[in-house]
Amino acid sequence: MTKGNWPKCAHCQLKPEERACRGEGKRAPVFCPMTLEGTAIERSREEYREAGNREFACRAALQEASGYEVDKADPEKRRPVKPRLLEIAEFAHRMGYRRLGLAFCTGLHREAAAVTRVLEGHGFDVVSVVCKVGRISKEEIGVQEKEKISPGKFESMCNPIGQAKVLNAAATDFNVVLGLCVGHDSLFFKYSQAPTTVLAAKDRVTGHNPLAVVYTLDHYYSRLLKP
Ligand code: SF4
Repeated sequence: MTKGNWPKCAHCQLKPEERACRGEGKRAPVFCPMTLEGTAIERSREEYREAGNREFACRAALQEASGYEVDKADPEKRRPVKPRLLEIAEFAHRMGYRRLGLAFCTGLHREAAAVTRVLEGHGFDVVSVVCKVGRISKEEIGVQEKEKISPGKFESMCNPIGQAKVLNAAATDFNVVLGLCVGHDSLFFKYSQAPTTVLAAKDRVTGHNPLAVVYTLDHYYSRLLKP
């Protein structure tokens, strides 16, 4: 793959109903991965022939479909009816999971308690672990005093590897990430043995709603278009 000759679905200007990825015999722009990366796509199909992937993907698709109902005002249309937290609980039931892991940020401790109430209310055992688990000093990973949030004070590092290992030790069936920071979440995904979903992504200034910035990119947040 050479520079400039790679897939750019984000630039696709075709209407959804015209796109090659939405129906047979439809159109594909020159940067379409369906023509540029046919081998990779064929390999992905092979992966779904593996029983575990097939079942997981099928149940995720059933969950997706169940998130809509017919709009009584216009039977041709579907309207979404389920919040993500409910979808997580329903998907976990579909998969037959019993024990869920909750890896959360210390800044969302109250939210973690509320999420636990909901998931326990749906019949799950919930093992939860905060990001600061282990009380490991930031110096241990090479953060200098002047680079801390509050220089001169002890600061526990976020320990996503520890969160994953605690949940692995508890043999959770499925993990839920709540508000882990950029990069910390990546390490959690890397070390978690159970499949993981995200309830919320950390975004300190938007109430953990990173798309608020995207929706307002042409006015309030246009400054983000340049470094
Ligand atoms: S897969 Fe092809 S047709 Fe579909 S959005 Fe991407 S570029 Fe457009």
